[in-house]
Amino acid sequence: MSRKKRNQVFTTIEVIDAGAKGKTVAKAPDGRVIFLTNAVPGDVVDIQTFKKRKAFYEGKAINFHTLSEKRTEPKCEHFGTCGGCKWQHMKYEDQLFFKQKEVTNNLTRIGHLELPEITPILGSKEKYFYRNKMEFSFSDSRWLTLEEIQSDRDLGDKNALGFHIPGMWDKILDINKCHLQADPSNAIRLEVKNFALENKLSFFNTRNQTGLLRTLMIRTSSIGEIMVLIQFFSDAKEKRTKLLDHLKETFPEITSLQYVINSKGNDTIYDQEVVCYHGRDHIFEEMEGLRFKINAKSFYQTNSAQAFELYKITRDFASLSGNETVYDLYTGTGTIAQFVAKKAKKVIGVEAVPDAIMAAKENADRNNIENTEFYVGDMAKVFDQNFLAKHGKPDVIITDPPRDGMHKKVVEQLLNVEAEKIVYVSCNSATQARDLAILDEKYTIVKTQAVDMFPQTHHVENVVLLKLKQE
Ligand code: SAH
Repeated sequence: MSRKKRNQVFTTIEVIDAGAKGKTVAKAPDGRVIFLTNAVPGDVVDIQTFKKRKAFYEGKAINFHTLSEKRTEPKCEHFGTCGGCKWQHMKYEDQLFFKQKEVTNNLTRIGHLELPEITPILGSKEKYFYRNKMEFSFSDSRWLTLEEIQSDRDLGDKNALGFHIPGMWDKILDINKCHLQADPSNAIRLEVKNFALENKLSFFNTRNQTGLLRTLMIRTSSIGEIMVLIQFFSDAKEKRTKLLDHLKETFPEITSLQYVINSKGNDTIYDQEVVCYHGRDHIFEEMEGLRFKINAKSFYQTNSAQAFELYKITRDFASLSGNETVYDLYTGTGTIAQFVAKKAKKVIGVEAVPDAIMAAKENADRNNIENTEFYVGDMAKVFDQNFLAKHGKPDVIITDPPRDGMHKKVVEQLLNVEAEKIVYVSCNSATQARDLAILDEKYTIVKTQAVDMFPQTHHVENVVLLKLKQE
C-alpha cells in the first residue's frame, strides 16, 4: 500500500481524552482510536494520520475548528518544538484531572484492581521553574524550525546549546529560555554559549564525533547551592581553563564547578572521572532539617519541593510508631530511609548503585541517624531468605522502583515475606498496576494518592498503601 493511502484525513473530530505518553485521544469514524500529538481534549479538529495499526492510528491535528476551554497560553517560546513540556497548552487543573485519570485507569484496567475511595491528586505549588537539575547538549548543527527554513532571514551560526528534538538523537534545539529551572540556570547556559562562540570553542557533532563541547549540567538546591558540570570531548587544557575561569569569575555564586573529559561514543558520565575545578565536588540539599550531599553522579528527586510532599505521604501511609523494622527498597541515596528513620526502630535500605549507597551512609552519619543500614545489590538477587534471616522480618516495606517497576522475583518475594504493610511509590502507574495485580493475592489496597512532580508534562507519581489480608 502506498504511504499516501495510509495517511488519511478525518474531518471535524472531537478530541476526547489525554493520557499515556502525553498524547491526546480521539475516535476515527471507523471506531479506531487516534493518538494525537498536538491537541487538547475539547478541541474539534481535522486530523491527518501518519501511522495505522490494527486498533489505532497516530496522527496530528492539521486544522482547528473549535479550541477547547481547557486550553491556556504556553509560557515557553520553544513550545511545540522542544519535547520537554508538552502539556503547557492545557490549564493546570485539567493536567491534574488527566493525570489522576491515567493512574485510576491503569490500576483498574491493567491491574483489574478494586480501589478504595481515591484521594485527589496533589498538585505542585510551583508550576514552572521547579526542577533542580537540567542537562543541555551542544551541537554544531542545530535544529531549524519550519518557519526558519521557509524564511529568507540569515540564520546565523548553526551552533546550539539546548535539548534533543524528540526521537532524534543527533538534533538539538537551541534554547533561549527554559522555564523548568530557576535562575541563574538560563543565565549560565547563555553565558557558556556566548563565551564559546566568541572564543571559537567548537560545539559537538554527534554523527562525526568531533568538537570540544559536549554537555552542560546545572544543579541547584533549595538552599541556594549551585553545581555546574561541563563535559568536553577532548583534553584541550587551554580552552577548557579559559571557559571555566570565565564561569568562575562571572558567577561567583557557583558552589561546585566541575568537568569531565569524555571521548566515548555516548555522553553518560557514570563511568567517567569527574574533576572538580573550583569549589566543592558536591552541593547540599536540605529537607526537614536533614542534609543530603549531592555529587555529580548522585540521583536526587528533581523537584525538591514535591519530593518533600511525596515523602510526607509515604511516611503518613507507613504510619510508624517507633517499633517497626522498615525496609526501603530501591533506596537511591537513602533519602526516604532517613526521612522515616526517626519514627522506626530500624530502616534497611537496598540499592543497586554502589556510589549511591556510599552517599546514603555518609548522609545518615552527617544527619546523626543511627538506626539505618544500607546494602548494595540488585534487588532480584539480594532480597532473598538469607537477607531476611540476617536483617529480620520487616513490619513495613517501602518500595520505590524505577519506571520498569519491580522484577517479578521481587514481587514474589514480597508475597513470601508477608510484611503487614507495603507502601509502593511509583513513577509509572502502568508497571505499578502490573505488580499490584500479583500482590492482590495477599494484599488489599487501602489508599492510593497521586502526586504531581512534573507540571506541564504527562508524568505522574503514585503512592499506594497495601495491607496484608487477614486469613
Ligand atoms: N527512593 C529513592 C530513589 C528512587 S529511584 C529516592 O526517592 O530518591 C529508583 C532507584 O532504584 C534508583 O536509585 C536506581 O539506581 C535503583 N535501582 C534500579 N534498578 C535496581 C535494581 N534492580 N536493584 C536495586 N536498585 C535498583
